[in-house]
Amino acid sequence: MNVTILPILTDNYCYILESGGVIGIVDPGEAEPVIKYLEEKNLTPDVIFNTHHHGDHIAGNAQIMEKYTCGLVGPAAETQRIHNMTQTFSEGGALSFGDETFQVLETPGHTSGHICFFAPESKTLFCGDTLFSLGCGRLFEGTAEQMWNSLQKLMTLPEETKIYCGHEYTQVNGEFCLANDPENPELITRMEEVRVLRSEGKPTLPVTLDVEKKTNIFLRAQDVQDFARLRKLKDSA
Ligand code: ZN
Ligand code: FE
Repeated sequence: MNVTILPILTDNYCYILESGGVIGIVDPGEAEPVIKYLEEKNLTPDVIFNTHHHGDHIAGNAQIMEKYTCGLVGPAAETQRIHNMTQTFSEGGALSFGDETFQVLETPGHTSGHICFFAPESKTLFCGDTLFSLGCGRLFEGTAEQMWNSLQKLMTLPEETKIYCGHEYTQVNGEFCLANDPENPELITRMEEVRVLRSEGKPTLPVTLDVEKKTNIFLRAQDVQDFARLRKLKDSA
């Protein structure tokens, strides 16, 4: 699967996927830059993927679907808040996409209906606002326990899994990790890399699950209480 990273809005990432000639769009928070890219590359999208209902992930759906005949897949729990879905998925759902078959994981915490899409063939994960590089989503509609369980679920994926998340928050997230985990050598190395990438205007993604497990303070939490403490601390930082 080929993944193209499209920076949209202020700090969101929309992803354009290609596998076996099939084209997908993950979380189009706005339509214009997506349509511009598709036209430049002469691509016709087959399907839009939505991880959760927030506007910065779905606001481009309607305009893209007006222009192209494409499907819209998203969480079964969000039929009230994501309109015109052509197929909905819950935990364990499987979605064929070109040479890949996406597995759907329910990851409540940031929103109650949040899902992630994992492609085992290419070990690629689209995790919206559940897991960020060096951070995790805020708890808008869920408890710390739900988010902790969602992150634990993502941590069972293969170590080489490439993580594509919904936002470029890595540098700010990483400063929080460093302040609370200053002696972590892998974190120090990752942050050096992140600073270089950002100074060149490049994305810090994808990052592997292996690196995240060693550097992301939320994945390194001892237990759910420790996770909840860190999440609160970050919210008030
Ligand atoms: Zn969100
Ligand atoms: Fe978001």
